[in-house]
Amino acid sequence: MVAASTARPERIVVVGGGLAGLRTVEELRARGYAGAVTLVGAEDRPPYDRPPLSKRLMAGQLDDTTLREDVQTLGLELRLGETATGLDDGVLRTDRGEHRFDRLVLATGATPVALPGQGGQRFLRTMDDALALRARLRPGMRLAIVGAGWIGAELATAAAARGCRVTVVEAAATPLAAALGGEIGGLTAGWYAAAGVDLRLGQAVDSVQPGGLALAGGGWLAGDEVVTAVGVRPATGWLEGSGVALDNGVAADEQLRTSVPGVFAAGDCAAFWSLRYRRRLRFEHWDVALRAPAVVAANLAGAAEVYDPVPYFWSEQFGRMVQYAGQHQGADRMLLRGDPAEPRWGACWLAGGVLVALLAVDSPRDLGQGRRLIEAGTPVDPARLADPAVPLRDAAAR
Ligand SMILES: Cc1cc2nc3c(=O)[nH]c(=O)nc-3n(C[C@H](O)[C@H](O)[C@H](O)COP(=O)(O)OP(=O)(O)OC[C@H]3O[C@@H](n4cnc5c(N)ncnc54)[C@H](O)[C@@H]3O)c2cc1C
Repeated sequence: MVAASTARPERIVVVGGGLAGLRTVEELRARGYAGAVTLVGAEDRPPYDRPPLSKRLMAGQLDDTTLREDVQTLGLELRLGETATGLDDGVLRTDRGEHRFDRLVLATGATPVALPGQGGQRFLRTMDDALALRARLRPGMRLAIVGAGWIGAELATAAAARGCRVTVVEAAATPLAAALGGEIGGLTAGWYAAAGVDLRLGQAVDSVQPGGLALAGGGWLAGDEVVTAVGVRPATGWLEGSGVALDNGVAADEQLRTSVPGVFAAGDCAAFWSLRYRRRLRFEHWDVALRAPAVVAANLAGAAEVYDPVPYFWSEQFGRMVQYAGQHQGADRMLLRGDPAEPRWGACWLAGGVLVALLAVDSPRDLGQGRRLIEAGTPVDPARLADPAVPLRDAAAR
């Protein structure tokens, strides 16, 4: 069991050199914290941004997504290429030593799920993954992507534009089935064909073998490269037995405090209690890694702020900006807003007459206005909601 002192923090250690880790340090300094901060990150690179890896970097428009060149001006001890391995009383153990702390922030993110098999499979999680994969994308090369989720779709977009022969194999009946549900996810299937991508739905993969994919049912898909994009898991294995409670990630309360006093969690690894949704939630959203650290930093300094967002995610795929806010699980009604055959459209999910989630395709204004409606919990008029000529801010029930 780990214990931390209750006095004012003088030595804070942050584990994980991604967006959430860096933002925690930034927020601490912005709030005037002048004590020692150590940032321990397993990757050799200073903190960088992940969303462009599957977008502008993969498209060749960018080679580096480092978040800030002046990271040392934050006055931190930056321990790159160092992996945390466990916790003792007030001490973080790593593969290179130990770090004493009186407060600790867990921001270790998530790691991709691999498929069984002897063949080579790539992932798209790190900048090194992205640069190595991009170097392989050549006109005519056969790229097999497993998973038609957000990352699979974005990679397919970039690879097809670079002239690769792209096949996406998806076990579910539609793309984005887990994220958006089959009905709405299915409306994106045509985007693949229009981009020249071969999308194979309802096709599970048994294993990755040298030269391609062994498909469930006995089929074979040849590929010069295989990229597995079937999801991620919170990077929390090293915390097993540490006394920090885990529950599909680091279990945290609404103030992002873990079960151990003085230890907080933020970003992809944190499964926090949502007062809004009355359950524990873990998001793999950039917006969460960006904003939750402000709450952690405030609470590290003794405040009792609550993190309770309407979650927001975006994706850029097949020439479209796709944005989603809210949570549609539990909705009792779904309405289309506009015609999915048109360039701009959306979907609205309602529960008890209130907007609870929104998908906006190439409609950023809808996203902004819809997110505010969701936050406010105002009852809405379904007819106005479904009419794209009515601004969403005017869709409240009268
Ligand atoms: C290719 C890609 C595209 C994306 N696109 C979008 C998008 O369009 N929109 C969106 O909303 N979100 C997107 N995301 C998700 C978003 O980038 C993540 O939600 C965000 O990066 C999470 O930040 P994080 O700091 O919590 O975790 P991470 O960015 O994963 O950082 C965690 C860091 O901790 C390190 N670490 C792990 N274990 C240890 C350990 N034991 N010791 C030390 N260090 C450790 C890891 O190596 C990693 O560097 C995308 C993600 C990827 C990979």
